[in-house]
Amino acid sequence: MVHKIAKLSQSVINQIAAGEVVESPSSIVKELIENSLDAGAKRIDVEVTSGGQELIRVEDDGCGMGKEDALLSLERYATSKINSVDDLQSLVTMGFRGEALAAISSVCHFEMRTSDGTGSRLVSEGGKVIRVEPCARNRGTTIEVRSLFYNVPARKKFQKSKTASMAAISRLIETVAIAHPEIAFSLNAREFAPCKIEGRIEEILGPHEHEVNGEGLVGYLAAPNKAMAMRTGQYLYLNKRPIFSPLIAKAVKEAFGTRIGEHMYPRFVLFLEMSPEQFDVNVHPQKKEVRFCNESALFRRVQEGVEKALSPKQVFLDSLTFTQFEPLSFSEKFSSLPYKMEDQTFNWVVAEKPLALLGKFLLLEKEGLFLIDLRAAHARVLFDAFQIKEQRAQTLMWPVEIPLSPGEEERVIELEKLGIECRILKKMLIIDALPPFLEPADFPKFYSEWRGGKKIEEIATKFCHSRQRPFSFEEAIALWKEVQKCENQLYDPMGHLIFSQLKEEDLGRVLMRK
Ligand code: ADP
Ligand code: MG
Repeated sequence: MVHKIAKLSQSVINQIAAGEVVESPSSIVKELIENSLDAGAKRIDVEVTSGGQELIRVEDDGCGMGKEDALLSLERYATSKINSVDDLQSLVTMGFRGEALAAISSVCHFEMRTSDGTGSRLVSEGGKVIRVEPCARNRGTTIEVRSLFYNVPARKKFQKSKTASMAAISRLIETVAIAHPEIAFSLNAREFAPCKIEGRIEEILGPHEHEVNGEGLVGYLAAPNKAMAMRTGQYLYLNKRPIFSPLIAKAVKEAFGTRIGEHMYPRFVLFLEMSPEQFDVNVHPQKKEVRFCNESALFRRVQEGVEKALSPKQVFLDSLTFTQFEPLSFSEKFSSLPYKMEDQTFNWVVAEKPLALLGKFLLLEKEGLFLIDLRAAHARVLFDAFQIKEQRAQTLMWPVEIPLSPGEEERVIELEKLGIECRILKKMLIIDALPPFLEPADFPKFYSEWRGGKKIEEIATKFCHSRQRPFSFEEAIALWKEVQKCENQLYDPMGHLIFSQLKEEDLGRVLMRK
């Protein structure tokens, strides 16, 4: 066979390159909206049908292009965004490779209507421009992509389902919309009106409970009980650019610690700001994966920032003015409380005044009202007791006895690790000592939860939340005192809020509610 070398035509080169830049409808939408953002658009409308296989249309009111630029924009390595490699260091725009439009237009029926004052219409098929003509259009650009991958059957075959593809596009628009709340977006019928960042986040993530404010770090965290079994509630940005970073996701997850279950993922939006020499985005054509220069320092910075935001001390104590100790007018019921009022470690407790025990809630006065969910407090205290290695197990005056089912003998050793002192005697499990806040009378119920083999955070939480026995005042106060010694005193191990401060405004709002 005679080999003949021929240079590939530009349209074939573009098609091959397209594999990197445009692998799916969502990656096309991403490139197009990034171009719109770079063009200074204030409004970006996206329309997609059949998950993008039939039509992708992105319309913006950005700077638009004149006819010559419009033609050039379809050529590979044509960009208005950089001139030299040095420019990469100070890059502020989303795109820079000048590849996207060339790649996209090579794999579809492509149409662009753009105007920088004078309107032009360009039509291309498989990368070949077949029509250029003037058209009427306000300043801005509309790009339509139809019959995607019609000339790359292999790629067409490997596309996700229409539903999956649509979901990816929705996610993408949400991700970009969070970073640019001042810009109006729409995706088919869904509208994101321009608003403040908090409003945008609420619309997409739901209400946030905590705010992170650190050096080069701004974040919004949903309450731990909003954590999900998937990572879809996590939005991460570097200099407003959406990125993917297992490293940072892990730092956030670690900061949430035992506020959420082991296999749960917190919901958050996190914006990192870094100077360009501290990272490299140019590692992937999708510009999603980022390499950081000092990973461990970054990890710590994120973890500490999130921890600080989650810590109730930040939320409450900063705003507390310490009131002088004054004799409190306790009702008869409280006069025999088991705790000392002048406790040094928690001297601010002196300003607290228990008001009422409402079933599973304790209401107390302390710079306004505090409502404490005793079950959640109990779950936190109990779970933390299980974690402490040097246990303070309390010896029982009368050991608890529970019949053992066959095969349970080996698991009993796990109970010991929780600080439960036990032994086996003639097919009976004998409990000699229990951690504080686990009552002997409740132990059989705890044991039956434990037998189910779930994670300890789940067992402790379920056990406490399903409690029927009423709380006594003494118990309630003791729990409240104990929970304040816990590091994570705001949430129980499954993310339920332990207490909430009711301010006067909040009470007003309760009454306003219909
Ligand atoms: P890059 O964005 O990397 O420069 P693209 O292929 O995405 O490469 O775009 C090529 C050029 O076309 C851009 O540099 C820009 O000048 C122009 N362009 C693309 N889309 C738009 C748009 N929506 N509005 C104005 N100019 C655009
Ligand atoms: Mg681009």
